[in-house]
Amino acid sequence: MTVQDKPASAPQAQTFSAPEATPPLLPRTLMGPEQEAFRRTARRFFETEVAPHREAFEEQGHIPRELWNRAGELGLLCTAIPEEYGGMGGDRLFSSVLMEEQGRVLASAPGFMLHSDIVAPYILHYGTEEQKQKYLPKMATGELVGAIAMSEPGAGSDLQGIKTRAEDKGDHYLLNGSKIFITNGYLADLVIVVAKTGNTGKGSRDISLLIVETNSPGFTKANPLHKMGMKGQDTAELFFSDVKVPKENLLGQEGKGFGMLMQELPWERLIIAIQAQAATEAVFDLTRQYVKERQAFGQAVMDFQVTRHKLAELQTELSLGRTYVDECTRTMLAGKLTPQAASAAKYWVSEMCTRVMDACVQLHGGYGYMWEYPVARAYVDNRAHRIYGGTNEIMKELIGRNL
Ligand SMILES: Cc1cc2nc3c(=O)[nH]c(=O)nc-3n(C[C@H](O)[C@H](O)[C@H](O)COP(=O)(O)OP(=O)(O)OC[C@H]3O[C@@H](n4cnc5c(N)ncnc54)[C@H](O)[C@@H]3O)c2cc1C
Repeated sequence: MTVQDKPASAPQAQTFSAPEATPPLLPRTLMGPEQEAFRRTARRFFETEVAPHREAFEEQGHIPRELWNRAGELGLLCTAIPEEYGGMGGDRLFSSVLMEEQGRVLASAPGFMLHSDIVAPYILHYGTEEQKQKYLPKMATGELVGAIAMSEPGAGSDLQGIKTRAEDKGDHYLLNGSKIFITNGYLADLVIVVAKTGNTGKGSRDISLLIVETNSPGFTKANPLHKMGMKGQDTAELFFSDVKVPKENLLGQEGKGFGMLMQELPWERLIIAIQAQAATEAVFDLTRQYVKERQAFGQAVMDFQVTRHKLAELQTELSLGRTYVDECTRTMLAGKLTPQAASAAKYWVSEMCTRVMDACVQLHGGYGYMWEYPVARAYVDNRAHRIYGGTNEIMKELIGRNL
């Protein structure tokens, strides 16, 4: 059995096996023995506790709340957060391992990475000691789920055009507005909300980040949105009506929110490239297996030269993506990843992902169009990489502006 479905209703953990990995064109040197040991734990978790329950996640539009606690219990949340704040104290290679293992089983539902590698780092890098002590240990155990809310119905790419506003009321801000497409939004306990606090008319000076607890009066969550893919991923619309946010929940300095967002974005864009690369490799592996097994005109589909040539092209593209992603990761660990290099990774790998997955759907014939086939789901799930984290058009703007 490959990444095909198993009944999701069974309560006990089921085993799951991904297809055999295709030997790479070039040896991979990024990961060491520590990461490989950690990979075993991550693999077991995703294979037995996540992948078999995909259908149940898709039906309810989010993962069960307990899965967050389970991931925390196994030390799979906030791996790059220092131990003093409850994390594993690892570097971002461990985050990469987690993303690769999640991608390997094509599990698009858990928003662990956004919680651990986007939300928690904002608190670690810009939070006060009190904020770090209050939120990070509980995020590491899964007791608190985190989200970040930038996009609004009227402003996505043009972040400086947001309308959500936090009025200074002395000891607190009064927050009003709404956010859309927020990953982990439905289950979130805390949301980093991007809001206007200033009136200079310059978005870059008027924007602040606030840590907003979702049980605050006036905070409403809508049901998870119905998406084309990633149907088990919790993506919600959030509404704020006179939400009182204590002043101590300001993250960093007032009016400096835009700068903080810009600082964190290269890693966030590399994350998307890492995820897209891993999922594309998984789809390639299962397509390779499929064409070896599927018969047409008295032979395996793999035996048609056109199939082998197509797979050769796809593997070459994957190898180029892998080399660039790993080199960006090394550069990021050395503290030298530029916004342009990260934007190039996000844009090129996410587009390579669409090209390769489209070809893999084609190689599956009609079965490639059926929802129960992982290649069909992966095709729509991974289409989102070209849109979120800044669209690919915005990525090209960022690269082009520097030329
Ligand atoms: C599954 C999913 C999860 C998401 N999770 C989150 C989340 O957790 N938090 C969050 O804040 N947001 C999230 N988003 C929102 C996402 O970041 C935005 O959808 C994205 O930034 C694009 O904004 P928009 O949808 O408003 O599109 P628009 O900005 O309206 O863009 C429409 C089109 O115009 C193009 N365009 C816009 N400006 C330019 C320009 N200057 N030059 C050329 N072309 C341009 C775009 O590239 C796009 O093709 C998520 C989205 C999805 C689909």
